[in-house]
Amino acid sequence: MAKSTRWSVEENNPEHLPICQHKDELVQAVKTSPFLVVTGETGSGKTTQLPQYLCEAGFCKDGKIGITQPRRVAAITVAQRVAQEMQCTLGKEVGYQVRFDDCTSQDTLVKYMTDGCLLREILSDSSLSQYSVVILDEVHERSLNTDILLGLIKKIFSGSSKITRGRSSPLKVVVMSATLETDKLSAFFSDCPVFTIPGRLFPVCCSFGSAVGPKDTESIGYVKEVVKVALDIHGSEPAGDILVFLTGQTEIERACDLLFEKAECIDYRFDVQDQTVDGILILPLYGSMPTDQQRQIFQPPPPGIRKCVVATNIAATSLTINGIKYIVDSGFVKQLNHNSRVGMDILEVVPISQSEAQQRAGRAGRTSIGKCFRIYNKEFWEKCMPEYTIPEIQRTSLTAVILTLKCLGVHDVIRFPYLDCPEERFILEALKQLYQYDAIDRRGKVTHLGELMVEFPLHPSLTRAVLKAAALGCQDLLLPLAAMLSVENIFIRPGLLFSQPEKQKEADEKHSALAAKTGSMNDFARLLSVFQLCKSSDRPSAWCKENWIHWRALKSAFSIETQLREILLRLQQKKDFPVETFDGNKSELFRRCLCTGYFTNVARRSIGKVFCTMDSHGSMVHIHPSSSLFDQEAELNWVIFHDVLVTSRVYIRTVCPIRYEWVKDLLPKLHEVDVYELSSVAREEVTEEEVKRWETKEAAKRPPDVCVEDA
Ligand code: ADP
Ligand code: MG
Repeated sequence: MAKSTRWSVEENNPEHLPICQHKDELVQAVKTSPFLVVTGETGSGKTTQLPQYLCEAGFCKDGKIGITQPRRVAAITVAQRVAQEMQCTLGKEVGYQVRFDDCTSQDTLVKYMTDGCLLREILSDSSLSQYSVVILDEVHERSLNTDILLGLIKKIFSGSSKITRGRSSPLKVVVMSATLETDKLSAFFSDCPVFTIPGRLFPVCCSFGSAVGPKDTESIGYVKEVVKVALDIHGSEPAGDILVFLTGQTEIERACDLLFEKAECIDYRFDVQDQTVDGILILPLYGSMPTDQQRQIFQPPPPGIRKCVVATNIAATSLTINGIKYIVDSGFVKQLNHNSRVGMDILEVVPISQSEAQQRAGRAGRTSIGKCFRIYNKEFWEKCMPEYTIPEIQRTSLTAVILTLKCLGVHDVIRFPYLDCPEERFILEALKQLYQYDAIDRRGKVTHLGELMVEFPLHPSLTRAVLKAAALGCQDLLLPLAAMLSVENIFIRPGLLFSQPEKQKEADEKHSALAAKTGSMNDFARLLSVFQLCKSSDRPSAWCKENWIHWRALKSAFSIETQLREILLRLQQKKDFPVETFDGNKSELFRRCLCTGYFTNVARRSIGKVFCTMDSHGSMVHIHPSSSLFDQEAELNWVIFHDVLVTSRVYIRTVCPIRYEWVKDLLPKLHEVDVYELSSVAREEVTEEEVKRWETKEAAKRPPDVCVEDA
């Protein structure tokens, strides 16, 4: 019968993992050195086993063992696995914490968390007094937060500034990475030892396809192509599971639907080289998936059934699925990049790097010889794929992390110990934004408002709007909105997945009706209204179904709103929480608060349906078809927007009409700061004279000419 499951039984037993033979040496290495770099092939057992070894060796007596992950799904799934291995309830001895979801307790000894969470913890406890060991995992991913943590930990815990105050024993730091850049990491931590877990990778035979070439960087034809290749493998290759790398939830769901549709038509009984494959089990894997579904990914398939997992990059290194023998590589990834055309961070689909492609292929060679099918050609590899992935710190907005650093007392943000320095202009851009939000003053010092802002795990624009609303006593309008903007995919779009135009029409009508209910047509108010209507409904899940709304997203929004409310309450109890009054029209209140945060995203209609942004980029933008204001452009003059989507055009999504007078006094701020002037305040030593010179120069500047035209 099927042999596709033959490795799983053995592999699911952690005692067979490569790391096991090195348990004692590893524990010893952690004991003898304050900093340690650990490297080994993905799947060797670093993430799941090392924390257990350290716990067993008694490190938990002095505090928790904390392990960071760049991705929230990885933190959750791995914690589940380790809780299972240690035979305890998740949230007790083993727990996890990710943004808006804390599953830990007083008893937690081993805590998996996102790198962003540890960064927030350092804010309130810079000596990390709760921890005996901190493990920074997946460092090769070079996520922004992990890179900042590397610098902070080096600054706080090494050399002369070593912190011992508030700690019973010195902190142990372990940095884990797949084989890349370990020398660089060791050098970064004063030449600390490197522990390499030997492990071998079986050869993987890679082939190039012909579907994607250098001209196809923006095409979306890759979904159909990966489906075709996966079905070809299923029909012609011996037993062994398939892992398909795609870009994001929508593409993955589409691919799974297509696979399902096509696989239904196959006559399942065929023999390939003596191994029977009876059928195919199709499983999606992406970040915002429900965790019970994620668990299924790791289960061995039933006998005779071939598993086909369609995943994002999460399956490249963060999670290891046993039994994979075939890889289908789309060659693309969804990545957050700073877009200089619009001056904002944008999630976009880009070609992966060559090193990433090798990593993907390697997933097929863990337990035996594997095969990797690339759907792109050799020319695409040579011309479109960079050799290495650029670290996130060099390609995304630094605003939030620079504020965190400043709140931690790191004033000299240019000479901070970065593993790889971001470009100075990115640092200056972040300072400029913080100054515009009044989070730092002219000297680069954090303001009272900045200290409040750093407490919220939200984008600064949104935080600023929430704080304004709280000062005016109308947080009940902004907190739900902030929660709704923090979850993905609220509106179900059936047409996208099943190409069912009549269903799509019904959904569109329901969604428009929700917008109309708010009185004032705007996307922010529509989100607020969905939240309120669903919350007050007797049967909220049925309400969602009826209105083509994702109930799971709404449920998270409810929980996030509660958490944001708790943060706000805690801040309001402190003295000095700002209180303001508002004597204008009450119905304007919501939009006025939004303007306080989103004045950086103001656009004015120029001609026809085209708008022009009011920041220094002056980009030409269009309203996205998903907005409730689409096709009503003629009635609008001034708008604010939450985010943008760049295709051949730049689209603004989540849009709200405003009046010019509401942003009149704020807009000049977008132009008054000269980033080069800010470069002096980025460094620690700022003389009084410098500040004076700057202030005089500032005063001489006129606000930019803006035509006064009202909505
Ligand atoms: P590394 O960190 O070195 O890449 P891991 O510790 O993540 O390795 O994985 C070790 C093993 O544990 C792998 O064989 C993997 O398949 C298995 N594993 C990890 N998480 C789970 C899970 N949730 N369910 C089943 N097996 C898992
Ligand atoms: Mg790992």
